[in-house]
Amino acid sequence: MSRILDGRAAASAIRAEVAQQVAALASHGMRPPCLAPVLVGENPASLLYVRNKIKACREAGITTREQRLPDSVTQKDLVGLVKELSADEAVDGILVQMPLPVGVSRRAVIEAIDPGKDVDGFHPLNAGRLWSGEPGFVPCTPLGVMELLDRERIPVEGAEAVVVGRSEIVGRPMGALLLRRNATVTFCHSRSRELSGLTSRADLLVVATGRPAVITREFIKPGATVIDVGINQVTGEQQARDLFGDDASRLAEIRGKGHTLVGDVHPLHVAERAGAYTPVPGGVGPLTVALLLRNTLDAARARRGITE
Ligand code: NDP
Repeated sequence: MSRILDGRAAASAIRAEVAQQVAALASHGMRPPCLAPVLVGENPASLLYVRNKIKACREAGITTREQRLPDSVTQKDLVGLVKELSADEAVDGILVQMPLPVGVSRRAVIEAIDPGKDVDGFHPLNAGRLWSGEPGFVPCTPLGVMELLDRERIPVEGAEAVVVGRSEIVGRPMGALLLRRNATVTFCHSRSRELSGLTSRADLLVVATGRPAVITREFIKPGATVIDVGINQVTGEQQARDLFGDDASRLAEIRGKGHTLVGDVHPLHVAERAGAYTPVPGGVGPLTVALLLRNTLDAARARRGITE
């Protein structure tokens, strides 16, 4: 019987810890941490993500200063705004919601963020620090995966770890974190040959491809820990039956709101094969927001000279 790794429970524990430490700042007469989310345009998914992040901040006692800009914003103006926020003493963390409009360079905008306020951990200085094993901000999703592994007491040191996906947001920093913790790390991607031969060696398999249920039975070593970062929508009832079997709640969800969610790992196959695994939803997703709060708290504490 495989064990389900409950990301919601871990996330709510982290959020409670952050709230406690935010309250401790106030009890020392310090203002609460402040996050400035920057949202460009009206992309519904981005609007929802930013709304959720702001709500989570409020619940933890972190203040927010949301910046909304139209799709027509120029790169120069956006970079200018990010530089202003970087120089603003009252702002501790800056989060630029992706994607940005065509014609605006993601790199230019990210490089305008003060690395000390880069709570998403996307600035090249922080990416370099991660690979050099130095302290710095780390992207929230892979950081959340490490938290979950630690809280669930899954051994990392010496483990054969395989990361499928090499994006700057998930795959690469994930591999760097696992390496830092002495796992033996293999990166796979769309050009990897014989993917199942590589992944089926893994004690610890992390998948972030954005391809629904691409990891099936034969990709998983029996007893492995499988972390599914993917979030994909399933809209067809037959596809849902293939993925979830007789789970009536999934069909009901499709009929009710038009879709249900699946990760990059086949849900039935992972349940039958893995020793432990993250479900979708309720696995990695909730941890991303929780670690954003913790990174914002860490930024605020560092800027106030609190080191312990
Ligand atoms: P990207 O599209 O940036 O990267 C996907 C990676 O997967 C690439 O490196 C690509 O290889 C690789 N890949 C694609 N198809 C295959 C395949 N068939 N076999 C092997 N490798 C493949 O995606 P992200 O890293 O941004 O996100 C990945 C998934 O994680 C998405 O579903 C996304 O929604 C989800 N996500 C979830 C978060 C959460 O909070 N739970 C947060 C962030 C992302 P190549 O480099 O060769 O193109």
